[in-house]
Amino acid sequence: MLKPGDTIGILGGGQLARMMALAAAPLGLKCHIFAPEGDNPAFDVAAAHTVAGYEDAAALKAFAAAVSVVTYEFENVPATTADILSAQVPVLPAPRALAITQDRWTEKSFIRDLGLAVPDFVAVSSVEELEAALVRLGRPSVLKTRRLGYDGKGQAIIRDDVTAQAAWDAIGRAPAILEAFVPFEREVSVVAARSLSRDVVAYDVCENRHAHHILAETVLPAAISAKTEQAAKDAARQIAEALDYVGVFAVEFFVAGFGDQEALSVNEIAPRVHNSGHWTLGGAETSQFEQHIRAVAGWPLGSVKRLGRISMENLIGDDVMRWPELLAEPGLVVEIYGKREARPGRKMGHFTRVIR
Ligand code: AMP
Repeated sequence: MLKPGDTIGILGGGQLARMMALAAAPLGLKCHIFAPEGDNPAFDVAAAHTVAGYEDAAALKAFAAAVSVVTYEFENVPATTADILSAQVPVLPAPRALAITQDRWTEKSFIRDLGLAVPDFVAVSSVEELEAALVRLGRPSVLKTRRLGYDGKGQAIIRDDVTAQAAWDAIGRAPAILEAFVPFEREVSVVAARSLSRDVVAYDVCENRHAHHILAETVLPAAISAKTEQAAKDAARQIAEALDYVGVFAVEFFVAGFGDQEALSVNEIAPRVHNSGHWTLGGAETSQFEQHIRAVAGWPLGSVKRLGRISMENLIGDDVMRWPELLAEPGLVVEIYGKREARPGRKMGHFTRVIR
């Protein structure tokens, strides 16, 4: 268990690390950020930082020696990085959660083996296997690379007018899964946390709207039945327990049908704080960032009580230029990430409206 004054190491220097470091400060904890060269907005708010590659063993060892625990802001931490660090210092969540969720096939197999619904899926590693999988799953279906996909990258929807070869080329001919297309009504997620002493808390279910494969807006409460809300939270708990997880994570679901006919299927697990949980900063008694810091410090979890009806919007690219107008709105929670350049599609900030 950490004490105030101790230092948490964070792999990655983006907005998620920045908001974690900002949440650690009032608890008396320091953060040391480890990130490769680049625009690392977390450096501005952290006690220390190291600029080095994730393969730099000497830099990783020095970093591990300087911190009491290591956590991360993204799931694609190389396995060797996690191994080097965990030989020296606790890494939370444990590297096993990374290993399972880094690969869409192992992730979906893990979820299905828990008895939870996932869209039907097949592993494919050649265009011939893709042809066979298309016969089995039909069209439309969704081809996704097993590794390193996010925000719709490494993905192709195969409709009637797309050949297997074209889809295979589009994702870069990398090992993939073909997934049945889910005609969903809405996409929802649960942000939850599990502590070292195995307590689990789940925030209310968020409903998410995407634009160009990037999260645009999150609203709460989600327009789903109480039964579906509970089933989503129960699924999150089951996943956390099966992974012996410590920290904050998100589970994304598709919801097909309405009312009594609603059916949930799990799309993916994010083993970290998540964009659909940004509303908790100002919209819940404990933010997901503070919750994660508490969990990896070995401390008790905070209240997940929601403070009202919520809408959170991302500021993508030039949207961030709206800051003067947003800051003029009383009570609006505005977070600007301090990135140097507002490139199209880049997450520059977000704001949350809480209607009490
Ligand atoms: P992912 O990277 O797996 O989260 O997918 C990005 C987005 O693509 C999702 O948020 C959905 O909007 C869409 N999508 C992914 N998988 C499916 C599917 N099996 N059926 C329908 N839409 C999907």
